[in-house]
Amino acid sequence: THWKHGGIVGVRGYGAGVIGRYSDIPDTEAPDVHTLRVAQPAGWFYNTKYLRRLCDIWEKHGSGLTNFHGSTGDIILMEARTNELQPCFDELIEAGYDLGGSGGDMRTPSCCAGPALCEWSCIDTLDLYHELSMEFQDEIHRPRYPYKFKIKISGCPNDCVAAIARSDLAVVGTWRGPFNVYPNLIQDYEKTGTDLKDVCRKCPTAAISY
Ligand code: SF4
Repeated sequence: THWKHGGIVGVRGYGAGVIGRYSDIPDTEAPDVHTLRVAQPAGWFYNTKYLRRLCDIWEKHGSGLTNFHGSTGDIILMEARTNELQPCFDELIEAGYDLGGSGGDMRTPSCCAGPALCEWSCIDTLDLYHELSMEFQDEIHRPRYPYKFKIKISGCPNDCVAAIARSDLAVVGTWRGPFNVYPNLIQDYEKTGTDLKDVCRKCPTAAISY
């Protein structure tokens, strides 16, 4: 097949979010098998109602085949015929979903679960994701860059969304100020038989001692 981000097919008002794909053999059963990208929510949290509604719309207008998630983080709906793109988009928008980025544009940002689930988070990744997504709505939907641009947000240097490896603008939360030290908890660990010297030996940067 030939495929292309934007330009050959799309939906009204958007230049991104639909990846057109046409077969080299037009008289096959499926000469056009386009992909829609649906923007993911912050931290990839869904309730069942959200997923059921999305699946109902996609079964009605497309193949029913999905990919959770694409490498940018969007929900990928694979294989829609050309005449189903606009009706599918209209129904998605009506139900509260939106398309994500594609092509030479600001791609849908992504973030780790952050403070919603993870005790290591040093920043509110979900809030920052939301702010950036709102700020760059126009750039996400209407490609105007020479190449794609990705923002990924990790709450701490564990970098679970691989922001450093896989984005153009990596936001990684770090601890500011001195470490918190809880002497009582350290004593409790020792009482339970934890080898604290071994813990110190395993610190890769030798940042702690006991
Ligand atoms: S990057 Fe850090 S804060 Fe985010 S989920 Fe991973 S460990 Fe938790």
